Amino acid sequence: MNRRGYIALTILVLAAAAAVALVLVLHRPSSTSGGRSSAKYVIALDAGHGGKDPGGVVGDILEKNVNLAIVKRVQAQMQSDPKMRPYMTRTVDLYIPLEDRIRRAEEAKASIYLTIHVNSFDLPEVVGMETWVDSTRKDSDPSWVLASMVLESASAATGGRNRGVRSQELYLQRTKMPAIAVEVGYITNPNERALLIDPVYQDKIALGIIDGLHKFIDYLEEEQAPAVPATSSAKAPSTSKKP
Ligand SMILES: [Zn+2]
Repeated sequence: MNRRGYIALTILVLAAAAAVALVLVLHRPSSTSGGRSSAKYVIALDAGHGGKDPGGVVGDILEKNVNLAIVKRVQAQMQSDPKMRPYMTRTVDLYIPLEDRIRRAEEAKASIYLTIHVNSFDLPEVVGMETWVDSTRKDSDPSWVLASMVLESASAATGGRNRGVRSQELYLQRTKMPAIAVEVGYITNPNERALLIDPVYQDKIALGIIDGLHKFIDYLEEEQAPAVPATSSAKAPSTSKKP
């Protein structure tokens, strides 16, 4: 081989080495924390309503703004979580059609979908938290477990009254991923309204929601673990399917 041949060969070898290095870099897991099984679950956080749709309104308090404030607290607390990565369907006061919220979440490769709301009712004495599941979901759908775990954790973290898991036909049926609506409290009750716009209480809600999500992820991973004997199956917590 002549001198030109050696140069050509060297270039070829270097190019091959660069290609191999590139493949190795691209195949590295996106998350490096922990080292093993450290893939993060993308959690779609949807602040209900927005823009021309204010949701519930009491005086100058608009549901859409309270929802967004709470979702931003969840996002902030989730930012450093080793298991989860937040994806917000909206970060500003913007109207987004319901089907677009689902589409955005799916495009972001979300595996769990939460839409966050505050509730309103004619009677000001009604207080407390609820989670909602689309009623077309089967009993075996993990959304029921998600709804129960998030509700219990959020209620425990805040002291808010647990009004149970509820069900009706919801736009959440437009996705197959586990999806729930979280109604974190009633802005029509004066005491709860004051709490819902208080950043300290909003942080407690966020903490409770994330705690519930951790329990749900543990549940999912146990369900998927092949080594677990069949006798230790985690049964879905009972849910009260009231309207
Ligand atoms: Zn709402």
